[in-house]
Formats: sequence, structure tokens, C-alpha cells
Amino acid sequence: MIQTSLTAGGRGVIAALLTAASLGATPSAAQPRDRTEAKSASRAVPREIATKTLPNGLQIIVWPDHDISNVALYNWFHVGSRNERFGITGLSHFFEHMMFNGSAHHPTGEFDRVMEENGGANNAYTSNDVTVYQDWFPRSALELIFQLEADRICCLTFDSTKVESERQVVYSERRTSVDDDNAALLDEQVMATAFVAHPYQIPVIGWPSDIERWKMSDLKSYFRTYYAPNNATLILAGDVAPEEVFALAERYFGPIPAQPPPPPVTTIEPPQLGERRVSIRKPGQVPLLEVAYHIGTPRDPDSEALDLLHMILTSGESSRLYRRLVDQDRTAVGVGSSVMEGFDPGLITFQATLAPDKDPAAVESALYQELSRVARDGVTEAELAKAKNMQLSAYWRTLETINGKASALGENQVFHGDWRKLFSSPARYAAVKGRDIQALAKRIFDDKNRTVGVLIPEEERRAGAPSAARGAR
Ligand SMILES: [Zn+2]
Repeated sequence: MIQTSLTAGGRGVIAALLTAASLGATPSAAQPRDRTEAKSASRAVPREIATKTLPNGLQIIVWPDHDISNVALYNWFHVGSRNERFGITGLSHFFEHMMFNGSAHHPTGEFDRVMEENGGANNAYTSNDVTVYQDWFPRSALELIFQLEADRICCLTFDSTKVESERQVVYSERRTSVDDDNAALLDEQVMATAFVAHPYQIPVIGWPSDIERWKMSDLKSYFRTYYAPNNATLILAGDVAPEEVFALAERYFGPIPAQPPPPPVTTIEPPQLGERRVSIRKPGQVPLLEVAYHIGTPRDPDSEALDLLHMILTSGESSRLYRRLVDQDRTAVGVGSSVMEGFDPGLITFQATLAPDKDPAAVESALYQELSRVARDGVTEAELAKAKNMQLSAYWRTLETINGKASALGENQVFHGDWRKLFSSPARYAAVKGRDIQALAKRIFDDKNRTVGVLIPEEERRAGAPSAARGAR
């Protein structure tokens, strides 16, 4: 069984946790396990973490943790929809599927079957920036997992029957996850409008006509370029010793040759000079609003201030936008936000699900009032302290599990350029001042810098009526 997930923009683990909290779940009241340690803010870099780069360029990072005899493996390929071009959009995500469809020593279906027989489980996801493969397994399966993972990189099967059947699977995934999902459809249109030059305009799932048309030659050259060992970062956390991991990596990944580095993405999105708007009219239950502003990258000095700002605005029921739109105005039933985490400057995006029959213009203007209020008056000390506490408790929660450790190491290595930055992140968040957040809000929440998307539900046409619209869920 292929398990896949699709993320519209690479969001960090901690950011994702917080976004989930902002979408209605009550944030957990968990406190750092060791408050003394937490207070000292910057944790020392654990000495047991070891790294190695193979001669073919594969980067490996190992975090031994012997609490339980399991292992989490994350293999990050530095390829996502940002590396695509018109004609082959969606190809990165397509490979996420093809990677489960058979390789030289393991015919279709065997990857999952053998892994499950040995107590393991797996998943994968594709974003604008990366494609990540995850395995969780008992340490007894360590060598087997290396064998399975290396076989599909070395010797993936390119069988035209498999390609055609998987093309249909992805085409129907597009239909259910985007075309029939109003929030996803609106997000796709907002991204394609906010970016006129940079390939972040390309949806991760791909445009329908490209999904229908990519050719075997496109697949082969894309795979050779981007699924090379020199374009991957392999992370393991759990009941392993670095030396055994490095030896297995040498044995199974070592023989896979390096490839010329992939062509860099050099296009820089030009500054936006005025508001852009996009509207969608299609069958649906309620109106939707999405507002996006251009931001920098996770490596910018104000990226921690941005995370805290986004929590203050939408994390939990005491957040500013929840209180204003859901509690006070009662014009929205839900509000959330997300911050893109990737290689190039992305977006901060606010999404509101309106109460039935409410006017999107009223919600939009209330949203702008709240954003302007942060730019004009800043945030309170209590709000700042709460956001920092939530960030810190999410940090410690992440490091409680081998899955969190593997994911966070990879995220820091790939998006922040150095896995060690994980351990200085509490100190960086602690150093953020209220005035930093205010200055950032003033700069970002400029109406010339925003893209607004509105979805207005319209009557569903009766069967037989001449319409291209499909039924909304
Ligand atoms: Zn998929």
C-alpha cells in the first residue's frame, strides 16, 4: 500500500505542530521536561551525533538513542516542484509514487511487504523544495532497510505499464486532493498568483495537462539528476552506532555513482508592487479567504520573530485572529496560518473558513485591522512570553522521540544549512524582542505585498445541466 502525503509548502516540524494547534486543536499544556535545562536555553550539541559524507557525496547524520530498540530513518532528496518547469510539473511528486513501484531486486509491492514483515513502516512526502522518505523499524531490520532503500535509488524500475497506471493514480489524487477540495484549490491559485517568476508558482501535485503528458525520457533524466547520492541527506536516529551505519551506507549506497550537480534555481521573484487578487466561484458549503504576504527564508535573522508572530496571530483560541474573527465577530468558524520553509523566499499565508453566508469583504477588512494593529502597537509581553513558551515546549516534545530527532536534524541541515542550529534554536527564540516582531509586521504586512484569494460558493448545477463543474465534497 502506498502511503503518500502532499504538502503545499514545506513547513517545519515545529511550525507544523503549531499550525495544527492553530487550526482549532487546543495546544497541549506540556512543559519542558527539565526546566533547568530549558532555562539555560541553548542546549549543548550532543556529542554522540556523528556525520560522514561518502565519496559519492551522500551526507549522513546519525543520532544514537538507545532508549528503545527502534530506528527512524529520513532520506531527504533536495528536489521538489521548485525544480520543475512547464511541461513536467508534478514530476517530483510522481517519483514519490514511483519509488514504491519496484526496483531491480524488489518487484512492485515488495518494498512495503518486506518492510512490514520485518516490523517496519514507511511514508513519504513531497513539498515545493524537497522529497522525503521515512522509515521506522526495529534495529534488527537495519541492514534490510539499507538494502531496500539503496536498491530503489540505484536501480528503480521504469516500466511503461507501471508508469501509466501510476499516472492515473496521481491524476485522481489531483482530483480529490485539489480540484474537489476548495481550500486546496484556493491555495493553488494564490500561490500561482503570488509568484509570477519563481517556480514556487508550480503546484506540487502538478498541472493536469502535465500529469497527462510527461514522457519516459523526462522521467529518466529527472531521476538521474535529482535522485543522485550527492543530492541527498540521510538521517538516522535511534538504536544504532554511527560506525555500523557508516559501514552499511558504504556497502549499499557507496557503489551508486555521483551525478553532475543539479542545475541551480536562479530565478528571484521580483518585488511585488501592488495587491493581487484571485477569485474562484464553484460549488461549496462556505466562503473561504486566503491572504498571503511575501517573506524571507528560514535562514534570515528575523525568521524566529516571524514564527512567534504567526503563533501570536493564530495559535490557539487565545490568539488574536481567533479571538477577533471566530469569538468576537463570529464571521469565521476557523482561522489558521502557515509559514513556508524552503530554500528561497516564501510566503506567510492566512486562511479563514467563513461562517455560512458571511461576507468575505468584512472578514478581510477585520484581518487587515488586526495585522495593522501589530504593526502599529506591537504585541504584549504576555503574548510574547506565551509564544516563546509554546515554541520551547514544541521543541522539547520534538526531541522526545527518535522520529522528532531525525526530522528536526534533517530540517536544520537541509533548510538552515547546519544540523547544529537545532540546538541553538531555543536561544535564538529567547532573544526575540517585542520590537523585532513589530518591525517585521510593519515590513511584511504592506498591502502592496499581498495576494488575496476568495472562494465564493455558487449553486451546484443539476445533473445534465451544461457545466464543467464537478460536485464539491
Ligand atoms: Zn501522492
